[in-house]
Amino acid sequence: MRALYPGSFDPLTLGHLDLIERGSRLFEGLVVAVLQNPSKTPAFPLEQRLEQIRSATTHLASVEVGSFDGLTVDYARRCGAGVILRGLRALSDFEFELQIAHTNHSLAPAVETLFLATAVQHSFLSSSVVKEVARFGGDVSHLVPQGVAQDLARLFNHGDTYRGSSSNG
Ligand code: ADP
Repeated sequence: MRALYPGSFDPLTLGHLDLIERGSRLFEGLVVAVLQNPSKTPAFPLEQRLEQIRSATTHLASVEVGSFDGLTVDYARRCGAGVILRGLRALSDFEFELQIAHTNHSLAPAVETLFLATAVQHSFLSSSVVKEVARFGGDVSHLVPQGVAQDLARLFNHGDTYRGSSSNG
């Protein structure tokens, strides 16, 4: 069976990546898809978020990367995915995720939503927290893939902070 892992990924974190790695072991194919949400203004443009995911998942042969707008269940059907994969960090995620899962189920009963509990060490991690730390020049190298840390440094003009750890400058 194939699964769809949708999200904003603005930017990709090690928490997302952990879910992708575990999801790729559970399913024959996993489509990681960036939702183009017109009501949100992302920090990173779509193409950059796709590139962040592509370069962090090159070791995972069953992972495909895509993007969509509109209904998640429609995109799931288009990619032949029978499962929508989502992560649950804490109780605070639960209410919203349950609402979305029920809504999606009412729209497309054949598509199941499956939740994975996030890894304990990533349970505090969100894209917003990462951006907040990076904005003030904090080290995020233990929270995001290396390419994303470099993108964050560039976004917030903290290039000097990371120059030493980057192989390509
Ligand atoms: P959205 O705007 O759709 O919530 P996100 O990029 O914030 O998009 O999250 C996408 C999915 O990844 C959600 O299911 C979310 O619960 C999950 N997720 C977010 N942060 C983590 C994390 N630290 N560990 C594992 N899963 C996470």
